[in-house]
Amino acid sequence: MIATSTKKRRDEGFDVSNHKHCVICGGVVPPEKDPPMCEGTCEEEFMKRQKRSKTFNMVWMLMIFALIALMMFSFLGFGAPPATP
Ligand SMILES: [Zn+2]
Repeated sequence: MIATSTKKRRDEGFDVSNHKHCVICGGVVPPEKDPPMCEGTCEEEFMKRQKRSKTFNMVWMLMIFALIALMMFSFLGFGAPPATP
């Protein structure tokens, strides 16, 4: 006799073992979502955050650039910064 065990699995919506989590609220979202996030409020929040981080990165880059320029200038001896009051 041959015993065959067939398990039927119902797919409801999407496979739970293969999913992503919303980057904003951590909720479960389908794996095809890229970037993974809920529609609506989370998407808006993500856009806001991205915009903010872009501005933050730009400010940092400018600061580092200014610092390097300042160091180069002081190293070359051009217009030493008035450190002594
Ligand atoms: Zn979300």
